[in-house]
Amino acid sequence: MNIISTIDKMQKKSSQIRSDNKIIAFVPTMGFLHEGHLSLIKKAKEVGDIVVVSIFVNPTQFGPNEDLDKYPHNFERDRELCQDAGADFIFYPEVNEIYPETYFTYVEVHNITHALCGLSRPEHFKGVTTIVTKLFNIVKPHKAIFGQKDFQQSQVIKRMVSDLNMDIEIIRSPIIREADGIAMSSRNKYLSESERKDALVLSKSLLLAKDFIKIGKLDSIYIKDKMIKLISSVPSQIDYVEIVDADTLKEVEQVKNNTLFALAVKIGKTRLIDNLYIENLNKEETWQ
Ligand code: AMP
Repeated sequence: MNIISTIDKMQKKSSQIRSDNKIIAFVPTMGFLHEGHLSLIKKAKEVGDIVVVSIFVNPTQFGPNEDLDKYPHNFERDRELCQDAGADFIFYPEVNEIYPETYFTYVEVHNITHALCGLSRPEHFKGVTTIVTKLFNIVKPHKAIFGQKDFQQSQVIKRMVSDLNMDIEIIRSPIIREADGIAMSSRNKYLSESERKDALVLSKSLLLAKDFIKIGKLDSIYIKDKMIKLISSVPSQIDYVEIVDADTLKEVEQVKNNTLFALAVKIGKTRLIDNLYIENLNKEETWQ
């Protein structure tokens, strides 16, 4: 496995790989890797010949009062994990390499970026689409793997790729959870022992939603109310609990095919997100 930290070297390497007719599968990350990230690398190995993982804590996707400065990192550990997972390259640039002083260009998706996380993080997706576009131009992947954990992000990227006619296949990979149900996240590290226990209400509220769907209770207002009650049973601050169409991200009155349950909740100072995607209402195996 090779570590590349300049744009020029990465672009040259990617061009060479492409000219050898090899498929480049790309996994963008902000590092501090866990099993969730490793599942994306595994998927990348299945769908591509050469796997590139990027590790870059992208400043433009953090708001002014967010956790950019304390975002956890441990490159040595990440390097080992990538190596063990079978990645071929890590692209690990400095901030100046990506955003020199004279940087003035942003890529923006409208509409679906104003819902859910976009409401409390108004600049977030602009930062995401900008860095992902830049990384796509640097790594030149045929395929890119994104986690369902950030469902809205994957929809925004798919929209951008389609709207801007980027020739890249976007693959969404399922959420990896700890044994007790909490979705794996680099930010779980911020939780104290008691907050870690309280944080279980996120995944539990999604299980509760599943139980209602199973018995045919499909009314969104009813399910949302029960979810909110469960989450509010622990010290928490709800950013949103929404039941939306997975493409438009607009609220639905009844759960139907292609419905997304999405939530963002602050436990202590840590903002956590989780979701449940109902692809086909009649096939429980598609609820994930
Ligand atoms: P991050 O490093 O948090 O920016 O995440 C990098 C990628 O890993 C994104 O596509 C995330 O959606 C994905 N990811 C993060 N956590 C998980 C998880 N628990 N399961 C699956 N994918 C995840």
